[in-house]
Amino acid sequence: MSEIIIGIDLGTTNSEVAIVENGIVSVIADGEGRKMLPSFVGIGESGEILVGEPARNQYILYPERTIKSIKRRMGEDIQVELAGKHYSPQEISAVILKQLKSVAEDYVKKPVHKAVITVPAYFSDSQRQATREAGEIAGLEVVRIINEPTAAALAYEARHEGRKRILVYDLGGGTFDVSVVSIEDDVVEVLASHGNNKLGGDDFDAKIVQHIVSHIHEKHGIDLAESRHVMARVNRAAESAKRALSDQPFVRIDEEYLIEKEGTPIHLSLELSRYEYEAMIAEYIDETLEAVHIAVSGANMTASDIDEILLVGGSTRTPVIGERLFAEFGVEPQRNIDPDLCVAMGASIQAGIIAGESVSAVLVDVTPYTYGTSAIGDIGNGDYYYPFKYVPIIRKNSPLPVSKTEAFYTAADGQEEVLVRIFQGEDQDALNNIEIGEFLVKGLRKVPAGNLITIKLALDLNGILHVSAQEKETGLEKSITINNAIARFEGMEIGHAQARVNALFGGADTGDWVEAQADTEAEEHQAQVKARAVVDKAQTLLEKASHEDREDIIDLIEQIKDNLAGEDFEAIETATNRLADILYYLDV
Ligand code: AMP
Repeated sequence: MSEIIIGIDLGTTNSEVAIVENGIVSVIADGEGRKMLPSFVGIGESGEILVGEPARNQYILYPERTIKSIKRRMGEDIQVELAGKHYSPQEISAVILKQLKSVAEDYVKKPVHKAVITVPAYFSDSQRQATREAGEIAGLEVVRIINEPTAAALAYEARHEGRKRILVYDLGGGTFDVSVVSIEDDVVEVLASHGNNKLGGDDFDAKIVQHIVSHIHEKHGIDLAESRHVMARVNRAAESAKRALSDQPFVRIDEEYLIEKEGTPIHLSLELSRYEYEAMIAEYIDETLEAVHIAVSGANMTASDIDEILLVGGSTRTPVIGERLFAEFGVEPQRNIDPDLCVAMGASIQAGIIAGESVSAVLVDVTPYTYGTSAIGDIGNGDYYYPFKYVPIIRKNSPLPVSKTEAFYTAADGQEEVLVRIFQGEDQDALNNIEIGEFLVKGLRKVPAGNLITIKLALDLNGILHVSAQEKETGLEKSITINNAIARFEGMEIGHAQARVNALFGGADTGDWVEAQADTEAEEHQAQVKARAVVDKAQTLLEKASHEDREDIIDLIEQIKDNLAGEDFEAIETATNRLADILYYLDV
């Protein structure tokens, strides 16, 4: 076995350690199964040293006994105070590194002496030097310092081909960095970087905290900010609400007995929608996108030169980030490696290369397909009310298991039922994707259009897809399980064939959709469009048909034309479907 070199992501908010063994990359978990060590160092009640979670937990209550974000001070000639004593930033970082070293030693059951450590691309020489020193203090020879975006690129591209230009968007708890990286053969190069080392997920939390504080103030006339204990709870509640909103469109923030007013307990119960939350953080997201453009032009490139976008850092789980990047670059950001762990993985790949390991690509269980439903919307074909716009819910390459919920609204007044159709595929026209299941939700309240229905898709490691739809107001729910959602069409012709045929014919069955029942006119319009497309296609394929088929085709064309003229929609549909069936077998 080659010598052991670990890879460490020494982060502002969290740190991780990873290793490559027999070509396989793994991020090492501590004795309690945690892979992320909060970058907090503290001194506990009885003078003991606290690293990670216990230090983070006491931070808001005992800031004088806790240090966070020491990474920001690396390279400065200062001392920080901890429980009355003074330490250099290197020493505090060394405490974190020592903890990671011991997690790794418990795992490999051997002493570990060497590490590759990552730093932000913008780190100066003195900051890099301070990082090396921290390693030495912790008993680790730092065999190489590598840039974080380089590590991220290595994690994704351990076995790449050709040349690629990659945008690495890294938004953590307290810092934002964006880099343009070029990777060619074994050379990974950071071409340009930009960022803001005072922007991150903590700012997002702060917006939710503000929202809660003003809500309580308006409702009860109390200022929560006066109590540190209460603010610690509000902070935690805000952060978990934020995380929940990455996977679902609404969250309820409930904190019982938050505070007392004249002897009466006050409970917090507040609903926050993703929509409201996105408005709160919009200014921050805009700022990151400006930085992205500065980095891209700093690399003498334009958006179209970027081949791939990698998301790094826990805050990139916020869906609007991926959506905005996709809108600006036309490239779907990669999501298959855990954004919190990919820098540590890349560091360990670099470590493995130095140690002489042959490193294979990072293995992850991901969904190879996108799953979603259909709703009324614009797909760029001039029809703003196209009834089968595909709305992806779980995206291709999401690590498994994954669970996502989206919100939909009924479009018709008094709509009492809704047909939920589930598709697999990428096309923005749902009918060009493969339908894998459908179910009807009945008994909705008779209310005006705009009744909120949430649809949840949960896909597990075995490829089982659970789908549920819920009327938010009443909790009325209906669900189905699709057993082999992933395997279903793998390698089978049917999926391709259906997609091809649907694409040719401009749509398949008409039916209900999630947001609304089709209004009859739109349905009829669809039937006409489809019928004309099928007739056109049939005429071009007549030559290929056998004598017998040709007669049938000509008969059906005539029937459809008569039915179109007579506006007999049922007959149009039946004849069109029969004709489409015949063509399907011709068009090979
Ligand atoms: P990092 O510094 O990369 O470890 O990122 C930590 C930040 O990611 C913190 O602000 C977390 O609150 C944030 N974060 C973690 N998970 C999520 C999530 N599911 N959605 C949004 N933010 C998240």
